[in-house]
Amino acid sequence: MNVMTSHSDLSLQYLELEEKYGAHNYHPIPVVLTRGAGVYVWDVDGRRYYDCLSGYSAVNQGHCHPRIVGALMEQAGRLTLTSRAFHSDLLGEYARYITAYFGYDKVLPMNTGVEAVETAIKLCRRWGYQVKRIPEGKAKIIVCAGNFHGRTTTVISFSTDPDSKSQFGPYTPGFVIIPYNDTAALAGALSDPHVAGFLVEPIQGEAGVVVPDAGYLHEAKSLCEEANVLFLGDEIQTGLGRTGEMLACDHESVRPDILILGKALSGGMLPVSAVLADDPIMLTIRPGEHGSTYGGNPLACKVAIAALDVLKAERLPENAATLGELFRQEIRTLQNPHIGEVRGKGLLNAILINHARSGAAWELCLSLKDHGLLAKPTHGDKIRLAPPLVINRDQLLECVDIVRESLKVLD
Ligand code: PLP
Repeated sequence: MNVMTSHSDLSLQYLELEEKYGAHNYHPIPVVLTRGAGVYVWDVDGRRYYDCLSGYSAVNQGHCHPRIVGALMEQAGRLTLTSRAFHSDLLGEYARYITAYFGYDKVLPMNTGVEAVETAIKLCRRWGYQVKRIPEGKAKIIVCAGNFHGRTTTVISFSTDPDSKSQFGPYTPGFVIIPYNDTAALAGALSDPHVAGFLVEPIQGEAGVVVPDAGYLHEAKSLCEEANVLFLGDEIQTGLGRTGEMLACDHESVRPDILILGKALSGGMLPVSAVLADDPIMLTIRPGEHGSTYGGNPLACKVAIAALDVLKAERLPENAATLGELFRQEIRTLQNPHIGEVRGKGLLNAILINHARSGAAWELCLSLKDHGLLAKPTHGDKIRLAPPLVINRDQLLECVDIVRESLKVLD
């Protein structure tokens, strides 16, 4: 942590406070942020940075988007929480809006991403018992190696990442792990009649932006249909314009049976997640069988409508498609020996660092920070670059310049 010595006294105070009083469950880049607007964030010393993480793709609409802030402020002074013991004048409106937006019969609102994943798992198992008639307690869900679906005890039960999983057991049974991007393995696993669902990320974000072969999702969906198994699309990170379509599954015209959304559903304002499905699946859960105190609260409903509106009004998926293409092309043009590969879709991209030093990706992120761009390594040698989708061409090209300059630290 010698870099901390280069920090101002002010930022050092904040770093020390977190270190002393906060749990050590994260290892952040040592920068202390206090303000954000659009693609930029500012630290406590007034330095401006491009935010190329976007809150792990929660801030697709840009920091403090005025329309979303406006919705938040207006609703915050009116009514924020009713719980689901009572109705609000916004839940029905939001449910109608989001179901029409994505084309599903019903929505089940939750808060964090992992809660939505848990909800999807429960719904899928319920459907397995009540509709597919799997014997009680036998339902299985197929998942992929390298997955990241969140941090609850059930969800880490099917993680293949030892950091997420080890010494948190005993684990929840009922999951079958197959390789990602492998339809033969999927076909094999689907032959088990007790399988209720296939849970998949259209692109594996946390694993380092692993993009499957063209046609994988389409083929996987067809195999699930043939086997009478639900396709659960975790679009928490890939959805809402990030990859150049509203949903990453749209690239292959795949409609998940259960669609899982989070992150940018609030544009970074507060935790808002959702599970969408049609009636034969959604209505298998009845009153009292699932829920959350904050799920579907009026503040979240108002903010989510605004956040979804902004994505369409500002044509953010289209911008992500065009500028993502430009970004990968420009990075390839650098022909820098320290970049092994650049990959991604839309504005969800990663560069793979090719260097003998094991901490090279971390070193590069510190150099990026010093040059005014924030990003974070994922899984060692990969750096995800995912700016807010409101970024423009000049800003994107400036980010590429910063990457080029910063790479000199590895020479
Ligand atoms: N699913 C995917 C694909 C994610 O990328 C994440 C978070 O990064 C989650 C689920 C968990 O979301 P949350 O951190 O809001 O619980």
